[in-house]
Parts: sequence; structure tokens; C-alpha cells
Amino acid sequence: MLNIVIFGAPGSGKGTQSERIVERFGLNHISTGDVLRAEIKNGTELGKLAKSYIDEGQLIPDDLMINILADVLDSFKDSKGVIFDGFPRTINQAEELKKMLAARGQEITLMLDLNVPEEELVERLINRGKSSGRADDNEETIRKRLDVYYSQTCPLIDWYKVEGKYCLIEGQGEMNKITEMICEQINILK
Ligand code: ATP
Ligand code: MG
Repeated sequence: MLNIVIFGAPGSGKGTQSERIVERFGLNHISTGDVLRAEIKNGTELGKLAKSYIDEGQLIPDDLMINILADVLDSFKDSKGVIFDGFPRTINQAEELKKMLAARGQEITLMLDLNVPEEELVERLINRGKSSGRADDNEETIRKRLDVYYSQTCPLIDWYKVEGKYCLIEGQGEMNKITEMICEQINILK
């Protein structure tokens, strides 16, 4: 099993790189952002609740997010492994993910940290906002999301270092080159 956390700030390229890794290694993909956006689109109760947080640039409460993640995880059959994209985003989520996997006789293989400077993130997200139609891709909400990232999510870097799973990836530069660097790291562990 290859269970990989793809980590990084909003706009760091988690979604793009995840799709490529999924294809290359035949893994399942969980993007918590995509799951929440689908709920919003379908107008579910969960979607309405999620929207109230997302539009403010805030995180969805941990207990809710953890339950959603467990459901998606259980929906995968005969999985070769999972790419976790956008989860965990808090220490609590990381601890719960560890327990969830342990209960299934599994663990995280690797955490890939896509490192991109803040100015570049803001530029990418503002550009994405022109075509994404995402209500949270506007400059004011982007700044809030980055604040949340630096205060609540960044501590996971040290957490995964302690776990011995941390791998830094330079997330700025040619997209294909970044994919190759990621694949190289995964191949070492395979
Ligand atoms: P990227 O651009 O790298 O894909 P992102 O931060 O722009 O990252 P998503 O991962 O799609 O976008 O998340 C969008 C929003 O969904 C977040 O701002 C947050 O409100 C909510 N969300 C997603 N994952 C989580 C999570 N694990 N815990 C809490 N809230 C989450
Ligand atoms: Mg994404």
C-alpha cells in the first residue's frame, strides 16, 4: 500500500500533481476540497454548512471533516493506496488519520510538502479565480486562507518530520519537473 499525503498551501499545486501521481501509480484520490465542492453543488445540508466556512476562508470543523474522510476511505475497494489531497490540515486531523489507517492495518508512507513562496501562491490563486468560478479564489479570501494555512496547517510539517515521513518538494518551476521529482521520491519507497 502506498498512502501519500500531498501537502502544501492553497495554490501549491496539490490537485494537479495528485492527478498525475494517481494515474502513474494507479492509486485512489481523496481531495477533501473536491468532496466539499460537490456537496455544495448538490445543495446538500453538508454542502450548505461547508459553504459557510469555505466562503470565509476557514476550515470545516475537524470532527465533520474526519467523518467525511472515513466514509470516502471505506468506499475504496481493493485499493493499491490513496493520495490524500487537502487532508490532514490540522494536527488533530493528522492524529485521527493515523488512527484510522492503523485500524485498517495501514499507515502513511510519505508526506510530500509542495513548497511555494507566498507571493507566487497569491498570484496563482488570483489567476485561477478568473476561470475557476470558485467563490474563495478572490484576493480577500485568498489572504484569509493563507493565514489559516500558516497558523493551523503548517505545524503539520514538524509533526510529519517527527513521524519520519516528511519530504520537501520544490513546488515552484516547471510542472513536469515537479511531477518527476515526486515520482522519484515515491519510487524510492516502492
Ligand atoms: P489547492 O489549491 O492546493 O488545491 P485549496 O486550499 O485552494 O488547495 P481545497 O483543498 O480545494 O483548496 O480546499 C478548499 C476549502 O475546503 C478550504 O479552504 C477549506 O475551507 C475546506 N477544506 C478542504 N479540506 C479541508 C480539511 N481537511 N479540513 C477542513 N477544511 C477543509
Ligand atoms: Mg485542490
